[in-house]
Amino acid sequence: MITIEEWKTKLESEKCYDLVSELLERIEKSKLNAYITVCKDALKKAEEFDRGNLRGKLAGIPVAVKDCISTKGVRTTCGSKMLENYVPPFDAHVVEKLKREGAIIIGKTNMDEFAMGTTTETSYFGVVKNPYDLSRVAGGSSGGSGACLAGNEAVLALGSDTGGSIRCPASFCGVVGLKPTYGLVSRYGLIPYANSLEQIGPMACCVEDVITLLEVIAGKDRRDSTNAGVEFKFKKTDKKFRVGIIKEMGGNDEVMVRFNEVVELVERDFEVGEVNMPSFKYALPAYYIIATGEASSNLARYDGVRYGFALDELDNWAKYFSKVRAAGFGEEVKRRIMLGTYALSAGYYGKYYLKALKVRTLVKRDFERAFSKYDLLIAPTMPTLPFKIGELADPLTMYKMDVNTVPINLAGIPALSLPAGFVKSLPVGIQIMGNYFEESKILSFAMEIESVFKEVF
Ligand code: GLN
Repeated sequence: MITIEEWKTKLESEKCYDLVSELLERIEKSKLNAYITVCKDALKKAEEFDRGNLRGKLAGIPVAVKDCISTKGVRTTCGSKMLENYVPPFDAHVVEKLKREGAIIIGKTNMDEFAMGTTTETSYFGVVKNPYDLSRVAGGSSGGSGACLAGNEAVLALGSDTGGSIRCPASFCGVVGLKPTYGLVSRYGLIPYANSLEQIGPMACCVEDVITLLEVIAGKDRRDSTNAGVEFKFKKTDKKFRVGIIKEMGGNDEVMVRFNEVVELVERDFEVGEVNMPSFKYALPAYYIIATGEASSNLARYDGVRYGFALDELDNWAKYFSKVRAAGFGEEVKRRIMLGTYALSAGYYGKYYLKALKVRTLVKRDFERAFSKYDLLIAPTMPTLPFKIGELADPLTMYKMDVNTVPINLAGIPALSLPAGFVKSLPVGIQIMGNYFEESKILSFAMEIESVFKEVF
């Protein structure tokens, strides 16, 4: 894995052009399938850097961008046949910011179709393999962003997280990933799955690099009406944090053995207690009602007329619409459109959607209560180690993998997945949660324990 510091050191003795060529070669030969599209002009940018014409905080650093984030002139597929040939005429806010800081966008990373999934197995462009064991999944839906970092195919990456899609691949690939507070990073140019839940966030090989990337992408943007209008500048907090362990967030034996070791380490330096979150037993179903409901209305725009996949045989409008969607969307996306449409339909709205919103309020209250006592909360990010490709064929079993990550999106708080070494040669991640806009606390704590973990695990 390559950190910004290591890349900068290489840049002192080697040409950026040569380093980027090497990276592109590695991507070309790679078995991971982390990228859907590689950016052709990356080499031109590298040359610009070598001539001294590329400046900024990320000057000359190769960054991978998840393929649901719009890039002007570069195909943006969202992992779907529906957008296989879609080339956006504009950049997402975060991409504008990367470019302004001199970053080299190296490619667009593979993902679950429309970010719906936990393993990147629903991608139209094929599954992403775990760099630590090619027979296993890299996590999802930002699987390509996790795998490209662990496989030395980028230095930084952007992911998006609606119910865990940054934190899950971070955990499965042994990298650091942060889902920011809802509203901290502009969603302008992010192809929506479930607007009220999702955020774009940084992924990197160490906490420090996550901080650097977050400082670049966070901030004001009037084009996203849910943007909080605040900038982010990291402030190191040396405070002795009070850390709460969430009893309702667990994992299987392999994960819990490591998590209990983590708790012991944290107890050496911090005040630790336990906290109950009674609403969490309803969080997973509530998430899947809200997310699929929002998805069903968001995805109505793919009609085969304005952009995206189209058919030659024109028919009456209703028939054409359903033929295009039957052919353009994959199975999981269709399942969710049907689930969401059902949950929002007139007779069932009160029974499902409204109830889910009430659970959402209870989840927020549980977090509020917990943060009145603790600065930070910790839990395993994922309840299992990365599993075999194809192992979880049943959709419900797959949905259950998100049990520890979705409460965070329902509440809108920030959370980070930090690598806590390996179990059976596979990476494990610890989830660190903080109160709204308290990313600095999470990141300060993460930096401290990151060095302890590196020594011990
Ligand atoms: N696995 C969750 C889902 O499929 C979360 C996905 C995401 O965060 N985009 O909805």
